[in-house]
Amino acid sequence: MNFLVDLNNPVVRECILKLVGEEGLKVIRNMPPGEVTDERISEVTGVLLNIVRRTLFILYENRLASYRRERDTNSGWLTYLWTLNMDNIESLLTAESRKLLKNLETRLEFERDNMFYVCESCGRRYLFETASESSFVCPACGARLDFEDNKALIATIKKRIGEIESRIGARA
Ligand SMILES: [Zn+2]
Repeated sequence: MNFLVDLNNPVVRECILKLVGEEGLKVIRNMPPGEVTDERISEVTGVLLNIVRRTLFILYENRLASYRRERDTNSGWLTYLWTLNMDNIESLLTAESRKLLKNLETRLEFERDNMFYVCESCGRRYLFETASESSFVCPACGARLDFEDNKALIATIKKRIGEIESRIGARA
C-alpha cells in the first residue's frame, strides 16, 4: 500500500465504488507503489487492460491519479507512468457530501412544504393537489388514497443531514 487511505472505511469504499466499481477498487488496492505503466498494473492486479485504463482515466479526472510521459529515445514511443494520489479522496468526499447535503435539504423542504396522500393498494404517492383533483382516488389503480403522515420521514432526513454536517465539520 503506497498511500494512507483506509479502503475498508465504508464511506471511502462507497465513494470509490461509485467512481470506478469493483474492478477499479481492485486496481487501487493492488496497484504497485511508485510510477507504473498501465500494462504493469494490469499484470500485477489481474484486471483487464482496458478496465485499468478506464479506471486510471476516472481517477485522473478526479485528481486521484497523475501521470508522467516519458519518450523512449530509440522507438520514440511515449510511455505513461502512473502514480496514485489517493490522499485527495478527502476533498472528493467533502465535495460529495456537500452535494448530498444540498439534495437532502431540497428534499426536506419539499416534504415540509407539502401534504402527501398514498394509495392503499399500489403504494403510489401523490401531492395533495393531485389527490384532491382525483377525489382521493388513485389515478393509477382506482383504490382509495389515505393521508400520509411524513413526520417520521422528515425526522430521518433531518438526522441524515445532521450526520453529514458533523462529518464535514470534522473534516474542515
Ligand atoms: Zn393505486
